[in-house]
Amino acid sequence: MASEARPENYHKHDVIVVGAGGAGLMAAVQLAGHADVAVISKLYPSRSHTGAAQGGICAALGNLEEDHWEWHMFDTVKGGDYLTDQDAAEVLAREAVDAIIELEHMGLPFSRTPDGKIAQRRFGGHTRNYGEGPVMRSCYAADRTGHMILQTLYQQGIKHSVNFFDEFQVLDILFNEGVCCGVVAYAIRTGEIHTFHGKAVIFATGGFGRVYSVTSNAMALTGDGVAIPWRRGIPLEDMEMFQFHPTGIYKLGILLSEAARGEGGIVRNSEEEAFAKRYAPTLADLAPRDMMSRFIYQEIKEGRGAGPNKDYVYLDLRHIPYDVQEAKLPDITEFIRVYLGVDPTKELSPIQPTAHYAMGGLPTDVDGRVLVDDRTALPGFYAAGECACVSVHGANRLGTNSLVDLVVFGRRAGKHALDFVRHADLVPLPANPEGFARDQVERLLSRGAGVSEKAGEIRQTLQVEMFDKASVVRNEQGLKEMHGILLDLQHRYQRVAIDDHTRTYNTDLLEAIELGYMLDCAECIVAGALARQESRGAHYREDYPERDDVNWLKHTLVWKTSGGLRHGSRPVSITRFQPKERKY
Ligand SMILES: Cc1cc2nc3c(=O)[nH]c(=O)nc-3n(C[C@H](O)[C@H](O)[C@H](O)COP(=O)(O)OP(=O)(O)OC[C@H]3O[C@@H](n4cnc5c(N)ncnc54)[C@H](O)[C@@H]3O)c2cc1C
Repeated sequence: MASEARPENYHKHDVIVVGAGGAGLMAAVQLAGHADVAVISKLYPSRSHTGAAQGGICAALGNLEEDHWEWHMFDTVKGGDYLTDQDAAEVLAREAVDAIIELEHMGLPFSRTPDGKIAQRRFGGHTRNYGEGPVMRSCYAADRTGHMILQTLYQQGIKHSVNFFDEFQVLDILFNEGVCCGVVAYAIRTGEIHTFHGKAVIFATGGFGRVYSVTSNAMALTGDGVAIPWRRGIPLEDMEMFQFHPTGIYKLGILLSEAARGEGGIVRNSEEEAFAKRYAPTLADLAPRDMMSRFIYQEIKEGRGAGPNKDYVYLDLRHIPYDVQEAKLPDITEFIRVYLGVDPTKELSPIQPTAHYAMGGLPTDVDGRVLVDDRTALPGFYAAGECACVSVHGANRLGTNSLVDLVVFGRRAGKHALDFVRHADLVPLPANPEGFARDQVERLLSRGAGVSEKAGEIRQTLQVEMFDKASVVRNEQGLKEMHGILLDLQHRYQRVAIDDHTRTYNTDLLEAIELGYMLDCAECIVAGALARQESRGAHYREDYPERDDVNWLKHTLVWKTSGGLRHGSRPVSITRFQPKERKY
């Protein structure tokens, strides 16, 4: 059936990419020139969160010291606490090298060694010779690596005439005859509904750190691209695996990249003790993030936190010379000066763990095809980047492994989709394609203020309670309480009304819609965290403090059904490395 949209609001392209961050742009660049590709983004592309990535992008180039992709693969598997799918980790580590060279050839201005090679530095959990000590594997452009990747890829998109639909917010995904055939979007500038009809759709919508009150994530990271397909029956994988980064600015959550520790920064408690080496003798401050965050939690719990409430610790950069700070960490030191009013060459910076990265998301295979159960791909539907779960990061992502995930798996999704659309027919749109999206918008615009709930109040409760009950350390009681709070918030959400009833740049409306996605993501995080009765990677249950490979060496899947949540699982791919105890 044809779209009921006005003809100018109906768009047909071979491939529709949703999201203009690193993953979406990398996929689009593969397609450009070979297929008709559209990129839809609720943000102007260069505002995507990829641009905020500071520290680096890793690949075993071996430019400064010996390195091998097998070592990188091993670190990725071990860092993920053996929940990492090893077939995906092998693809990541092998193809990372080539992907970096591709970015270099596109013109990405990497920092250089004196002899002109791409410079590399240390990062948490990246080691030489299977864990012997830290290795320099992270390529970087000062501490603006993501910014440079985003700009480079966006330029390539423009150069290759990708059709960009900026400031279009996708509200629904369309399936017909068992195939994905398009999306429905809201034009933020005009308030009109548009239908995008295609042979394949690639979701690259990023993460959902905004479900927590203290987060490094930008305002737009509300889990839209995770929740929208979930509402349509697609499962989500490993949602309980949410990473907290150890060094967020106290209370604000703004990230002080791990590059700071890669360049020698040290985390200290109130007694100025460099405590990480007490817990991780080999890697100390360069232990993986899940562990560093727990070390900090432990120090605070045992009374060695700083400040009047003893609820933070310090990042110490004082011993790093001013010129090194300026050359290698200019943005980070600027954040410290601006947001903390601290001079990092002379003073300690108050920090606390901050919600940072979703390891879970839409289940995919190594070609980015979205799975509807433990093995079946849904034709025409792809996902890449943070909204996807390949699962290459397992239970805990290593620093610099996300940017490389975007380019490696964004590229693979783009290439596979290209092959797919060459052979596939265009499936007709389902009946009344815009109906669901239009109803959602109109309901919010027309609801009277009399019986109203405010989206902002629900959001704040959600964020504060999630940070309290489903963050670095979890237990059954807290998670059950959170489950109850979410039921209440979901109920209140049904009565949300907005103040702005206009059609142009109605952020009130869009934030209310996004709150619905955040509630869905939180529901899945909590359900997964309650179900997984063990501690692994970022998921630490104080009532089940040990990893349990007998019962839990598996991925969790969760579906939304009319009768409530349905849980399932997926086996972990284990090819080269048998699970071992994680020591650093
Ligand atoms: C502060 C910070 C620093 C980081 N530093 C590093 C680092 O040094 N190294 C590293 O490897 N990783 C780092 N990460 C992680 C990494 O940057 C992210 O995981 C990654 O950039 C996500 O990229 P993406 O392409 O999946 O999504 P994003 O870059 O988040 O882009 C999402 C896109 O989806 C669009 N979108 C979302 N919803 C909709 C919708 N409903 N309709 C239309 N469009 C939509 C947005 O407009 C946007 O274009 C960092 C993350 C943060 C927050």
